[in-house]
Amino acid sequence: MATLDPEDWSELRALGHRMIDDMFDRLEGLGAAPVWQPMPDAVRAGFRAPVPREGSGAARAYDAFAARIAPYASGNTSPRFMGWVQGGGNAVGMLAELLAGGLNENCGGRDHVGLEVERQVVAWAAELLGLPAATGGLMVTGSSIANFIALLCARRAHCGAAVRQDGLGGRRLTGYAQAGVHRCVPGAFDMAGLGGAALRRVALGADRRIDLAALEAAIAADRAAGAEPFMIVGTAGSVDVGAIDDLAALAAIARREGMWFHVDAAFGALAAASPARRELVAGIGEADSVAFDFHKWAQVQYDSGCILVRDRQLMLDAFAQDASYLTTTARGLSGGAPWPCDMGPDLSRGFRALKVWMTIEAYGTAALGGIVDDCCALAARLAASVDAAPRLARLAPVPLNIVCFRYDDGGAELDALNAAIAADIQESGRYVISTTTIDGVRALRAAIVNHRTRAADIDGLAAAVSAAGDARRREPIG
Ligand SMILES: *Cc1c(COP(=O)(O)O)cnc(C)c1O
Repeated sequence: MATLDPEDWSELRALGHRMIDDMFDRLEGLGAAPVWQPMPDAVRAGFRAPVPREGSGAARAYDAFAARIAPYASGNTSPRFMGWVQGGGNAVGMLAELLAGGLNENCGGRDHVGLEVERQVVAWAAELLGLPAATGGLMVTGSSIANFIALLCARRAHCGAAVRQDGLGGRRLTGYAQAGVHRCVPGAFDMAGLGGAALRRVALGADRRIDLAALEAAIAADRAAGAEPFMIVGTAGSVDVGAIDDLAALAAIARREGMWFHVDAAFGALAAASPARRELVAGIGEADSVAFDFHKWAQVQYDSGCILVRDRQLMLDAFAQDASYLTTTARGLSGGAPWPCDMGPDLSRGFRALKVWMTIEAYGTAALGGIVDDCCALAARLAASVDAAPRLARLAPVPLNIVCFRYDDGGAELDALNAAIAADIQESGRYVISTTTIDGVRALRAAIVNHRTRAADIDGLAAAVSAAGDARRREPIG
């Protein structure tokens, strides 16, 4: 039987070096490789095997990784991946994951460096967004759970301590967000037991930002009907088109109404790192809480979401639990209170902050802001090429880094046709783009998020979409 740590490390060490070399080869070759390829049935079947009783050894496990796993990744590391708002990761972040794995820190609590690094990252994020230095926060899986944590803090702030024991007792709490809000926000209302419908989806203006008059009318109507409006969720970077709500105006309405102001800034938060685009998220520093991801525009590896809460005590009020084995002390390893496990839902937590800390130490926020600017410039370039193409029609403005358009030759079945085009393009391995729905019609969507993307990576996309549409017209959808 194998032991988990070998007596002789030399073989495993050599294997580790080979893994790192292979992965650098892969990163260097991303530009030439297919973005994504479908997994053959035989490969898929290989992952339906019974659990091995005896191991095959690290070298064979790695051979299996190289043959059956690495070739079939989703492709978001590629410069020609524009399918969804997904970051490309970076090499320093990758190495940091190796280092974090070596330390194997449990960042739920106690007095050790993992928590200090996490506090540093949270403080950096607060500084970047213009929140106070004392802002509380945590690294979490992503903005979905960050939005959920924010909602629970807002609920605790509105209802007081009793809500944690007694629940809502029939009180009808309502929240408000723009109609293009990410699905995880109504999902958070659902998970919190408020009901997804308690998040009112407010109409968009022509700029696809929340209509402020409609918001105020919705709040007034709910109050008149006996509900308790308690939370406004601004969107900074809507997932469909990249629109950013007027955050300063939302902050003012929330203050006037005595409501919690949260911002879902999953990717838009990074605009704050760009001197040229910081103005787009003006007002974000007035928020009571902000959810965002380092794993999107900040190019840190998955997963690395972040929740910031202006009043750190409120995180403790919303989440702290008594448990004798988690008692904190003034000295020793049980010191260092407050602990992350009392500020959010998780007890055991990995060292997510390290890859963020190392990426920012290595490159600085100016480089991240530069990536934001480059992506937005590339999106504008793509939009121009779409506008110049005879059978392509753009479906939304491009305020940030997302271009929504479609093949439109004036013929029938454009929704089905464009869905087929997206799949054809994906299966070609040349690009990954996705689809969404804009004002009721199927759109193609290119989100430019990756620091590796250059003009050469997008310049053929409009022509490729046109050609795919023309080919489909000659050979109807099967
Ligand atoms: C990506 C995204 C989310 C969800 O974030 P995850 O990190 O995937 O959980 C929420 N809101 C917006 C606007 C997003 O773009």
